[in-house]
Amino acid sequence: MSDQDTFREKDFSATVLIEEARSAIWKTQARMEPRDLIDRVLPELREITSDIDLENSEQDAFVWRKIRDLLIRRAYETRPYCIRCGACCKNHAPTLLMDDMALLNKNIIRPEHLFTVRKGELGYCNFSDETVELESEMIKVKSKTGSSTCIFFQGFDRSCSIYENRPSQCRTQECWSQESTLPTQAHMSRKDIFERVESLWKIICAHEERCTHDEWKKALSRLEATRGNSVEELLGILRYDQTVREFVSERFGMNEEVIELVVGRPMENFLSLHGLELLHSSDGTCMLKPIEVS
Ligand code: SF4
Repeated sequence: MSDQDTFREKDFSATVLIEEARSAIWKTQARMEPRDLIDRVLPELREITSDIDLENSEQDAFVWRKIRDLLIRRAYETRPYCIRCGACCKNHAPTLLMDDMALLNKNIIRPEHLFTVRKGELGYCNFSDETVELESEMIKVKSKTGSSTCIFFQGFDRSCSIYENRPSQCRTQECWSQESTLPTQAHMSRKDIFERVESLWKIICAHEERCTHDEWKKALSRLEATRGNSVEELLGILRYDQTVREFVSERFGMNEEVIELVVGRPMENFLSLHGLELLHSSDGTCMLKPIEVS
């Protein structure tokens, strides 16, 4: 890159930086000028950009993402209280902790409001702000259909419909504060909710043993390695998962909304992550096929 190009690139970066600072201020409703915000983050900015290679576009995007997050965090810190911007509630619904059992017992949060993210699934961690493969299961509040907004968030006045009884994670997380700490309590699991209902708990355990996300991933790898010849293995997992759902629905009179808490989300829902879909024929048989990209 010539000196002139480098100069233009720097000029461009300075303009983008001002715009990013403006956007962070707008998002957090902080009261400050973009240049003041940039001054606050200068030492950290220097650190982030010290090894940047301007010609590497992938690295460039990664660095800008880090800068954006930094600006938002520092802008938040200038207003150390909740301003009901709704950012937390619109981005992620909470994960339940043991303390939240009282909310279930009082029927404030009901089974149909929840779903299980099972061990081995990808889940979003609110605190580390990343998607991780879960080492143990979590019970989460559902999001509104087609979005990541918590079902209890009311858009018309940016409020929480269960604010006085909101889950522990919502109380602990002070998005504006660097001092905000991770909750120390254990996550709630299905064992805590269902173990006492012996007949249902046995079904959950059997499903958990036969239908793990570990086995699912192995079956998918084998499907690829055998170029589709081991498809019966994957179809077997899908059939078993579906059978358990139907059985729970009939035996315990539960609808699909509650079943998502009892045995997690349908395995069929995860096929699209691997570019596959399940076709159901009228004679009751199923077929797996790659999703056609139009
Ligand atoms: S429970 Fe209430 S405070 Fe917590 S994320 Fe949902 S809407 Fe926000």
